[in-house]
Amino acid sequence: MRKSLNKTCLIVGAGMAGLTAAAELSACGWEVTILDKGRSVGGRLATRRLGSSRLDHGAQFFTTRSEEFIRAVAGWEMAGWVEPWYSDEGHIRYKGVGGMNALAKHLASPFLVRTETRVQTLAAICDRWQATTESGEVFDADALILTPPAPQAASLLAGLAPDVSATLARINFDPCFALLLTLEGPSLIPAPGYARPADGMIEWLADNTQKGVSEGPAAITVHATGAFTRANLDAPGDEVTRLLLAAAEPFLGSAVTASQLHRWLYAKPPADNYSMCLFSDHIAPVAVAGDAFAGARVEGAWLSGQAAAHRIDRSQ
Ligand SMILES: Cc1cc2nc3c(=O)[nH]c(=O)nc-3n(C[C@H](O)[C@H](O)[C@H](O)COP(=O)(O)OP(=O)(O)OC[C@H]3O[C@@H](n4cnc5c(N)ncnc54)[C@H](O)[C@@H]3O)c2cc1C
Repeated sequence: MRKSLNKTCLIVGAGMAGLTAAAELSACGWEVTILDKGRSVGGRLATRRLGSSRLDHGAQFFTTRSEEFIRAVAGWEMAGWVEPWYSDEGHIRYKGVGGMNALAKHLASPFLVRTETRVQTLAAICDRWQATTESGEVFDADALILTPPAPQAASLLAGLAPDVSATLARINFDPCFALLLTLEGPSLIPAPGYARPADGMIEWLADNTQKGVSEGPAAITVHATGAFTRANLDAPGDEVTRLLLAAAEPFLGSAVTASQLHRWLYAKPPADNYSMCLFSDHIAPVAVAGDAFAGARVEGAWLSGQAAAHRIDRSQ
């Protein structure tokens, strides 16, 4: 890609798509500013503490299918950031060393990411983008990359890029309850530490201790199915926890010592959109990236972040 000196880009979201776009653009000479509303970088590459245990509660692993991503992941593996967890259906399932969020932290380390900074409104003034945060801070730049899940990006762009906003608003994400548990003793989840029960309620269980992410006897992540989550989205947390605990019981085998329920409102986009990213320069250059555009998985977010960076770089 050509060098673009003195150009600035504002990137909203420090998940896989935003961090990938930041690396790609800064390699092309752009100055990037990354804002994220979360307490940490990573978005759905998320790892939480429950007592002294550590649990991946968003993405559980990732696979590599495209040549470009295979090359990137080989570099991460050499750096000691990721390692194979297990193989299935011809694909290695990679995990983050120290948890999936640790990978995001490595990718973010060259940048000064502004966390706990939620972009509330966008405006385009004299061919430049201006983002105002909920605390009233204003950031501006020549170009903009938005990586929040599509429905959230749609509201930010409403009135500014109506075509892009309307396309984004039509992308429906599946929600997902994630129940995190610690146990008194070992779990009954078989090696290498995951199970996929076909009970209609639970899509996935993982034992973070067997996975090598956590210490302690057992630290379990339970992901509900999209159907169960949608049907119980407004149910009290205690009730959802009770139902999921009952369904997970055959895999536990030891008493639960602590639990925490998390609701991912935008967990998984539909799997069929391969436009790579959306772009408009109607007012000023903006690209929208994320897993909604290149495959509903970590690799899709990475590919989309790359595509958005290339599209923005070409626009100048
Ligand atoms: C429960 C679950 C299980 C999953 N399992 C797998 C798996 O096993 N394998 C796999 O490959 N993928 C899995 N995924 C999908 C994978 O996590 C995503 O595809 C990928 O992480 C998406 O990255 P992204 O950058 O597109 O979006 P995100 O990670 O969602 O990043 C978007 C970022 O934007 C920020 N943001 C949003 N709005 C604003 C705002 N207004 N201002 C500032 N910041 C904002 C958010 O805080 C977030 O950090 C799973 C996801 C979930 C939720």
